[in-house]
Amino acid sequence: MAAQVGRQPISSILIVIAMQTEALPVVNKLKLVENPHSPFPEGVPWVHYHGTYKDIVIHLVWPGKDLSLGVDNIGTVSASLVTYASIQALQHDLIINAGTAGGFKAKGAEIGDIFLVSHVAFHDRRIPIPVFDLYGVGSRQTFPTPNLLKTLNLKSGKLSTGDSLDMTPQDETSITANDATVKDMEGAALAYVADLLKVPVIFVKAVTDIVDGDKPAAEEFLQNLVAVTAALDEAVDQIVNFITGKCLFEL
Ligand code: SAH
Repeated sequence: MAAQVGRQPISSILIVIAMQTEALPVVNKLKLVENPHSPFPEGVPWVHYHGTYKDIVIHLVWPGKDLSLGVDNIGTVSASLVTYASIQALQHDLIINAGTAGGFKAKGAEIGDIFLVSHVAFHDRRIPIPVFDLYGVGSRQTFPTPNLLKTLNLKSGKLSTGDSLDMTPQDETSITANDATVKDMEGAALAYVADLLKVPVIFVKAVTDIVDGDKPAAEEFLQNLVAVTAALDEAVDQIVNFITGKCLFEL
């Protein structure tokens, strides 16, 4: 709580990652271990890793695999649930959502780029009724971290979130309206939960596929996933190092 006032060094962070391939390199790099007594309800597939890195207590949660299909629980529903449950069960001063994303080359994104997200919004919640339209888009500014951005020399851009890997023409119109450079399937949902429970959140997104390029996103995503997650875990490590000993207002 103290760090929320912003005058005490950050003592605990929560890292939320949607896919196992993205999560495990970060778990290994930060030397986290799986908590056998997870704080989550019995039977849910969500996985809690924890550890201490320098002076910071780190919790990392991954929503696990679908209990019947065995694939990663990607998307907004699992991301919201696991973030809510983690905030309720664990203490932390800052949330980091790390993951892969599609990038728009027209907005300057390239494969392997790491973005620190300035704003998030949804692109698949179309409600053409006054004010509900704005609620659907759910645009939010992320916790500002100008020093982190400058020191680590990351790219800055807006993120648009939807529950599909592909993009319909309507999605594309909304993504353009959101002025997004990167596109994922969790960010804006996490921002909603963090905002609701008043925990600052930042987003680190590594580009695995170019959405406005020639290759199908799914194919390009799989080709680049391993190499790009290596860049992502390096970035998360650098961010955690930067955060160490700092207060929120210094980020
Ligand atoms: N086909 C892949 C699953 C990809 S799902 C597989 O079989 O493993 C995409 C995941 O990466 C989501 O968690 C999402 O947040 C992110 N992502 C990467 N590229 C994306 C894109 N172009 N659009 C939306 N989400 C993307």
